This record gives sequence, structure tokens and C-alpha cells, in this order.
Amino acid sequence: MWSFLQRTEAGQTLLSRAQTLAGLPAVQKAALAAWVQAVAALPAHFQPGAALWPVRRPLGNKQDWNVFKALMESFYEKGFVDGLPYQADGTPTAAGGLTYADYVRSFRAVHRLNPDPDAREVCVLCGGHLGDTPHVDHWVTKGAYPLLSVCADNLLLICSTCNEAPNKGQKPVHSGGSFSDWFHPYLRAGNAHVQLHYVLPAFAVQCSAAPADQPKTTNLDGLLNLSSRWTREFKAEYAKQKDVLRGRERQRLALGQARHSLAEIQQHVQQWAADLSPNEPHHAVHSVLSHALMHPARTQAWLAELALIT
Ligand SMILES: [Zn+2]
Repeated sequence: MWSFLQRTEAGQTLLSRAQTLAGLPAVQKAALAAWVQAVAALPAHFQPGAALWPVRRPLGNKQDWNVFKALMESFYEKGFVDGLPYQADGTPTAAGGLTYADYVRSFRAVHRLNPDPDAREVCVLCGGHLGDTPHVDHWVTKGAYPLLSVCADNLLLICSTCNEAPNKGQKPVHSGGSFSDWFHPYLRAGNAHVQLHYVLPAFAVQCSAAPADQPKTTNLDGLLNLSSRWTREFKAEYAKQKDVLRGRERQRLALGQARHSLAEIQQHVQQWAADLSPNEPHHAVHSVLSHALMHPARTQAWLAELALIT
């Protein structure tokens, strides 16, 4: 820790920032200490009847706050890149401490659905592709709560689409200090509670949950715009499947074969649905789509469309 504090950022050592904080009047230091204690007690706020979490800065003077913020964020901005002054299990170390790359590697290993290293990886928040440039997200923004900049319970690796505005961005994940209507990736995971369903004829995907979890689901949807993103994927995969059938219809016509029958279209949908893998991105959306496609009106509509191909 001592050598970590010798590092310089913006022309000033981290140690000198720590000294500035140490030199604050006792009343301000007490306010800061109380804030640190309250913020660190985040898990208790997921218990029933919890008091509100602090939503105001503990230091009135913005300069003092910025010193504290820079010191705390340096653990993420500098420490996490070059190596933190401790290992993954918290053991202090002068060199070879935990890095961003270590974290990303371990997170990917733990959350990989298909163990094949060449398989696509899935974002733990949206279920879509994790992508080539996933981001380490601070569930609670580090800008407002720099104390949580390298807190394990506050970090997760998600796709860049989830992390960036207009999706998660810098949005809060609590309502004025209350977490009662919010999921949390570790302290109150929503995976088993959020369900997808489609709405015809809008052809839209909506998120739903048991009544007790509905406010949390609505907040999660608002945070990540899941309904609209899942609807886009739903429509895109629908368009793809329609295109596959059109291509086959054209092929049949070119070869002088009979057109698709209603039963063959149903078989195509059933086979596609049976082949869906839970380890692939967007499995839940594709699964919902497969139900929509099995609707007799939908199969009839496709039959009519294919009949127009000449
Ligand atoms: Zn995502």
C-alpha cells in the first residue's frame, strides 16, 4: 500500500492526496468516515426494512471531495491496470497484485456457458453477445460512490451495449437510496425472476415477473432498455427465419419441386426451436420467438407469403 501511494496522478502523488484528507478538520473526517461505513454496508440495504443509503456527498467542499474521489478511483484507474497492492483473495502484495486483465479473464472463465474456447460468450445482463470489447461495469457508479471502484460486489463484465448510454451509462441503480425495488447482480440477482413474453400483433417482447418482483423488473428494463433491445432481436431473428424459408422455397421452385406445405413450415419451426442452444446468445428471445412462430396464424401467414414467390 505504501508503494502504491507513491504513485503520481495529475502531477500529484496519491500520498499527498491522502495527507490532504488526513489534514481535514475532525468534523469533516468524521462525516467522511460515517459515509464510508454507510456505503460499505451496502449488503444490509437488501434486507427488509433497511434505512436509506447515503445519496449526498459527505464533504461539502467540492475540492476536498475531488481529492477523496481521485484517491479512491486511483485503485481502479491506476491500480487495476498496473496491479493492485493486493491479490485476488485480499492478501497484500508489493508486486504482482490483481489486475484488470486478471479480473476479466476470471470473470469470463466463470461465466462461460460453453466451455469450448471458440464458442460465443453471453452477456450476463442482457443475454446477448458479450462481444469483442466487453466492459467492466461498476453496478453502482464509481463517480458518485468512488469507494466502490474496485469492490468485487460492484464489478461485473458486460457487453458494451449494456454498459453505454442510453442503456446503463451513469444511471442510478437505486431509488433515492432505497434498493427495495431493484435487483443487484450479486446481492439480489434477477435472472430467475424476469420472464420474457411476446405481444401479438405488435410483435414486441416484454419483461414480466411475479407481482412482488414487477417493480424491480420494470426498473431493470428501464436501466438497460431490455424490452426494446429484445424486441429488435426478436424481429431480426424472425426476419432471418422468414428469409431462410424464402430461400428454400426459391430453391424448390428452381429444382421443379413442390412448394412448402403448412406441415413442412411447422416442421421447420419445430426443428429450429429444438436446435436452440441455451449456451448461445439471445437464447431466451429466440425461445420466445419459437413459441410465437408455432402459432397457427403465423404459420398460415408464412404459407401465404411463400405462395407469392415466383
Ligand atoms: Zn449486455
